[in-house]
Amino acid sequence: METDYKVLYRKYRPTNFDEIIGQKFTIKMLKNAIINNKLSHAYIFTGPRGTGKTSTAKIFAKTINCENPQNGVPCGTCINCQNINQNADIIEIDAASNNGVDEIRELINNVKITPSFSKYKVYIIDEVHMLSQSAFNALLLTLEEPPKHVIFILATTNIESVPITILSRCQRYDFKKITDEDIFNHLKNVCQKEKIEITDDALKEITYLAEGGLRDALSILNQLSTSEATITLESVLNNYGSVSLIQINSIIDAYLNNDFQQIQNIFENLQQSSVDYKTFIKKLVDKLFIKALNFKNKNDNINYNEIKNIVFELNDLLNKININIDPFLLIFMIFADKMTTKESMINKPISHSETDDKIIKDNPIKNVPKKEVETIKDNVSRETSNINPEYLEKLIPIRINNCFAQADKNHLQKAKDNWQNFITNISSPELKAIIIDCNIVLASDDINIVASSQKTVAERFNYSLKQIEQEYENLFHTNKKFLALSLNQWEKEKNIYMENLKNNYKYKIQEEPTLKETFQNKNTNEENHQELKSSDIINIFNQEKVEIQ
Ligand SMILES: [Zn+2]
Repeated sequence: METDYKVLYRKYRPTNFDEIIGQKFTIKMLKNAIINNKLSHAYIFTGPRGTGKTSTAKIFAKTINCENPQNGVPCGTCINCQNINQNADIIEIDAASNNGVDEIRELINNVKITPSFSKYKVYIIDEVHMLSQSAFNALLLTLEEPPKHVIFILATTNIESVPITILSRCQRYDFKKITDEDIFNHLKNVCQKEKIEITDDALKEITYLAEGGLRDALSILNQLSTSEATITLESVLNNYGSVSLIQINSIIDAYLNNDFQQIQNIFENLQQSSVDYKTFIKKLVDKLFIKALNFKNKNDNINYNEIKNIVFELNDLLNKININIDPFLLIFMIFADKMTTKESMINKPISHSETDDKIIKDNPIKNVPKKEVETIKDNVSRETSNINPEYLEKLIPIRINNCFAQADKNHLQKAKDNWQNFITNISSPELKAIIIDCNIVLASDDINIVASSQKTVAERFNYSLKQIEQEYENLFHTNKKFLALSLNQWEKEKNIYMENLKNNYKYKIQEEPTLKETFQNKNTNEENHQELKSSDIINIFNQEKVEIQ
C-alpha cells in the first residue's frame, strides 16, 4: 500500500519522455536511439535520487515495446501501451531489497524465455549497486551474452560501487540534479492543479530541501498539504527542522560586519530550536560558497580566504561532531574564534600616559592566537615565513617610533603619489589584494606606514613586508621600509603621538631588530635625535589643523 505522502509523486509521475523534467540532453539521446533503432542490450542510468531514472527507464521500456511509436513517443493505443501497467514483459527489480544471488539466478533463468506478447523483455534493476558480489557475477554472465529479446536497464545513485566489468557492458546515461528553477516551476504547477495554497517563499524552501530531487520535493509538498490549509515558509521550517535563508544570511552579514552580539543572539536561538544541524551546516556552506566566489570575482583574496577557511572548518566539524556537545555551540565557536581575533584590538582602552611600552602591548600581532597567526602565514607566500610574530612584535613599535621621529608632510605627499602607482603596477596579484586595501598615513624619508580598515589585512601586509619592500624597490629603485596598522591602531598611535608632543617627549631613532639572513637593516640615522614641536603635527599628518590643548 502506498503511504499518503506518495500520492502526488505517483499522480504526477511522467508518462512520456517530454514530461521528464530537467534531463533534456539524456532524453534526447535516448529518443534518438529509439527513432534510429540503435538499441543496446544494457543501459545504466546514474544520478542522484529523484532525478527521473526509474521513470525514464519505464518510459523507455514502454516506447520500445509500442507497436506504432511516432518520433520516439509511444502511441498510447496499441495493446502494449494499453497494458503498460500489467505488462509481464517489463520486470522491475529493486536491488536494495532483493540483493541475493538467488533472485538474480531466477531472473537469469527466466531471461531465456521469450517475451509473452511484446518485442522486448525489459529488466529494470533499481539501485543495482546494492547487489551482492555473487549476484553481480551471475548478472555479468547474462550481460556477456544477452538473448536478442532482452534489454537491461540498470539504475544507480552510486555508480562508484558498480563493478567495472558490469559498467563496461552498459551504455551509460548520467542524470543531473534537477535545477531549483525546474523544481520550483513544477511544484508551482502542481499546486495550481491541486489547488494547494502556498507562498512563494515556502515553495523556495521546499525546493531547497529537495536538493535537486523531484520525488522529495513532491513528498514534502504532499505531506504539508495534508496538514496545513495554507503552506507558509514558517510551516515548512517548523516541519522540516530547517532554518531560513534569511537567518543564514543574517549570520553571514553579522560575521562580515564583525557584529559579535548579533551572531551570539542568533546562535542562542538556534540552540533552543529544533533545527537539524546537518541541514543547517549544509545551507550555511552553500551560502558561504556563493559569498566566497563573489569575493574571488572581485579579486578580494583576503575575504575569500577567510570565508574559505570557515567552509573547511565547518566541513571538518561535520565529521567530528560528538552527539553530547551542542553542534550549534561548535559552529558558533568557529565564527567567534575568528571574530574575537578581529576585535581584540578595537575594545582595548587607550592610555595616554604610556608610550613605547603601550605601543608594544597594543601591537596587532601580539594578540593574535598562535594558530591564527599560522593560518595567516599560510595564506601569504611561503617565502615570507621567516617573518615571525616575535620579530614583528619587536619591529612594529620601533618602526612606528622611527617614522614619527622623522615624518613630514612632503614625504607623505610623495609616498601617497607613489602608492597609487605601486598598487597599479605591483606584479604579484596576491600582494596586490593586500595592498589595495591600505592607504599611506605617515611617511618619513625611509619609512612608509599604511593603514587598513581591516585588521587582518594589516596583519597580512606585515607578514609580507619583505616581498612588498622588494616589489617597491623593483618599481621605484629606492629602498623603503613599510609597516601596516589597522585604522583603529593608527588612531591610537596618533593620539599617543599628540600626547607625547604635549609632554615634550623626545623621539629618538631606535635600532630595528635584525631578522637573520634576509632582512637588511640600514640604521643610518642612529645618531639622529629629534625634538618635536607642536607645529610639526600639521606637517606630518597632512591635515589642515590639529588642535593641541
Ligand atoms: Zn503503442
